[in-house]
Amino acid sequence: MYVLITVDTESSICQGKPLPYEQMVYGRIGKECYGIPKIISICGQYGLGATFFVSVFEAQHYGRELIKKVCLDIAEAGHDLQLHTHPIWIDSDWLMWQYPLERQIGLIKIGKEMVYQFSGEYPIAHRAGGFGADFNTLKALAANSIPIDSSFFFGYPCCRLTSPPLSKNGISLIDGVLEIPSTVYTEIKLASFKRYRNLDPYTTSLPEMIRVVKQAKERGLKTVVVLLHSFTFLKMNKDRTRFEPDRADIKKFDRFCAWLKEEPGIEVVTMKQIAECGIQNSEFRIQSSEHSAFRILHSAFDFVPHPGIFYTLLRFFAHFRKSRKNRLVAIFIGMAGMMLFIIVGWLIGH
Ligand SMILES: [Zn+2]
Repeated sequence: MYVLITVDTESSICQGKPLPYEQMVYGRIGKECYGIPKIISICGQYGLGATFFVSVFEAQHYGRELIKKVCLDIAEAGHDLQLHTHPIWIDSDWLMWQYPLERQIGLIKIGKEMVYQFSGEYPIAHRAGGFGADFNTLKALAANSIPIDSSFFFGYPCCRLTSPPLSKNGISLIDGVLEIPSTVYTEIKLASFKRYRNLDPYTTSLPEMIRVVKQAKERGLKTVVVLLHSFTFLKMNKDRTRFEPDRADIKKFDRFCAWLKEEPGIEVVTMKQIAECGIQNSEFRIQSSEHSAFRILHSAFDFVPHPGIFYTLLRFFAHFRKSRKNRLVAIFIGMAGMMLFIIVGWLIGH
């Protein structure tokens, strides 16, 4: 099974103001960097390649030199540089699906040319900012000869790609574009109610991440896509004016990479590696689907991992320091457990 470590490399806008680029992308705090240099350093330690989706339209605000430097830093470290589109930096709306097909074709073209101007190579993969893609986005990629997309996040409200016709976690080839979804797992399953999460070390504990990847491998998924942001290892206040490193998440990602490196049957690859050899590979063999309204040529076997309620509850303790919600739930679970223990003890005693 192929595991893809992907990093949305970007700043953001908070209360109408663009945030400081050095903090959001490089994670600079004092003399140390906890952003992309830290991710590159951890991946490098285990010889793992990562795909960095760079939000190149931010050059409009921060300047071309800064974004070019980021692109070169990624490429020179031997990692994969691909296109991330947040149209708000050069146009009026936030998400790709808010634009008609013609404008989406234009936006992808601008982004593609910018990646080329900054790095000397055209992108072969794309992720829409905020996972805000629709089926026109895939058409726009095909029109720009970009063969891979990774904008599908099943169950995410901003995403207008859907399953069906796409496969939630399996790969699909639609309109000539290979969709490799951001892997989702179910956090909660109660009868027909399911809550989905993506595989992000910020929100997922290490035991959950390992269990999701193991289940995906055992059940035959071809790819697992892990999502990070350039600022994943930073703790920020609500206004995003104070930054500090999240050392627990840095350690978590380090241990996850160490596990990936050692786990049999797993190969960590980049989007570029998939484009170079994967599409031709028999594992990505094309099958036709007669019944779909869409021209889906390939829809792999689908499976959604479910680590289970025990792992979900455990996460509230593992992420105790992360948020007030985690602390409240962990305290509630602890108190409920003690009550149960006392009641059972009392019943046995009588
Ligand atoms: Zn983004």
